[in-house]
Amino acid sequence: MKITLHRPNQIGGCITEIESSKGTKIFIDLGHNLPRGDEEAPDEYASIEAIAELTKGAKAFFYTHIHGDHIELFKYVPEGIDQYVGPLAHKLMVAKYKHMTYADDLKENSLLCLKKLEPFKKYHKGWNITIDDIIVTPFQVSHSASDSYMIRIKCDGKTVLHTGDFRGHGYMGEGIYKVIDKFHIAGHVDVLITEGTNIDSKGKSMRHEKELKKEFMDLFHKYKNTFIICSSTDADRLESIYGADRDGAKRPFIVDSYQKELLQLISEHAEEGRQLYHFGRQKIYSYNPENWKMDYMMKKYGFVMLIRNSPKFQEYLDKILEFCKPEETCLVYSMFHGYIDNSEGNTAFNPSTFRFVEQFRERGCVVEEREHTSGHASKQDLIRLCQQVNPEIIVPIHKDENADIKSILPNELKSKVCEYRYGKDGIEIVFDPQQKYHASCWCEAVGATSKGYYLYGEAETK
Ligand SMILES: [Zn+2]
Ligand SMILES: [Zn+2]
Repeated sequence: MKITLHRPNQIGGCITEIESSKGTKIFIDLGHNLPRGDEEAPDEYASIEAIAELTKGAKAFFYTHIHGDHIELFKYVPEGIDQYVGPLAHKLMVAKYKHMTYADDLKENSLLCLKKLEPFKKYHKGWNITIDDIIVTPFQVSHSASDSYMIRIKCDGKTVLHTGDFRGHGYMGEGIYKVIDKFHIAGHVDVLITEGTNIDSKGKSMRHEKELKKEFMDLFHKYKNTFIICSSTDADRLESIYGADRDGAKRPFIVDSYQKELLQLISEHAEEGRQLYHFGRQKIYSYNPENWKMDYMMKKYGFVMLIRNSPKFQEYLDKILEFCKPEETCLVYSMFHGYIDNSEGNTAFNPSTFRFVEQFRERGCVVEEREHTSGHASKQDLIRLCQQVNPEIIVPIHKDENADIKSILPNELKSKVCEYRYGKDGIEIVFDPQQKYHASCWCEAVGATSKGYYLYGEAETK
């Protein structure tokens, strides 16, 4: 078995290639490089020709989740190669591209993406999929994108576990450890390919989503009007916000029609008998600027409103902020702080998002920036995972170039780390020799292009 890791030493742009000794080839993820601030990142694979060359002879693609740095290049995959993703993930992608067709400059690309999404196959947690002599099994994990998975690959009598992006401090964060037990994965993995976003985390918040929910509850009581900027597809954050309002102040919960559709889709896939992710038990309103009764309700009772940095929301804000007293109004910025940190040298800085946030300060409203937590595994969770799985080889990917996983692992695991070429017992691992572009260490995965990200607020949450 040969494993080729493309761009392992950068956050985003993930591509993992696995080929059996009989020549069966599959891919896990086909991600685009992350945008820098409000500029789209260059990507040497972003063309039909480059992907045709890269994926020559491939039988199937398995995407761990819908963040652009794991899936965005799907549109270049030649016809006839199966592409698999989670069932809810697929619906969320279709919803996103449908809404993007309304923006003239995104329409052409969105229509192409919708066409490419049509033949996608859906995998299901715990179900095996056989691709010739390779067996693939996805298992659900907690991450800042709904419907995220880690993937087990059995090939040539060996087992590979690819974590995708995951975290232990979301509502379903313990799930990964339970699955590893339930499916007898521990002790039976030859190669563990793990994300390492937070190996080098400096000052990043790793609080549990539950803590955020409590803080949101306090804010919704304290301020009559709360606007929130958050990722549209992060079911955990949406649960923290929606649940805080439902179980607390019960202010009218306002979104736009796109966010409402996403909430409905997530609800449809929520587990019966659990409270999590059932959006809609408290009414969700879709904002309509023509509806004076809605403005009246918001004026009278206050509100919790999810917003994104887009011209449409700017129009809504210009209207709504007119009737909000600044001292009763709060904006919660519930995303990676790097996007609005204008200190010199911060390549993540997004001037447009910054201005969008600053207008609230200029109007005298309160801006809260604390209600955020990483979408990725903490150091403790990375250690716990490596200890529990106890594989033969540990391969960190999706990490800053200089992040050293050995520096955080206990001694007995350090010797298992493999970051350069490997070849032993029928396993060959190749680390992309042609890495031309390195995303800087700041970044969280962002949705489609930077433009799409502005409009559709899909950012991962670092
Ligand atoms: Zn992600
Ligand atoms: Zn990612």
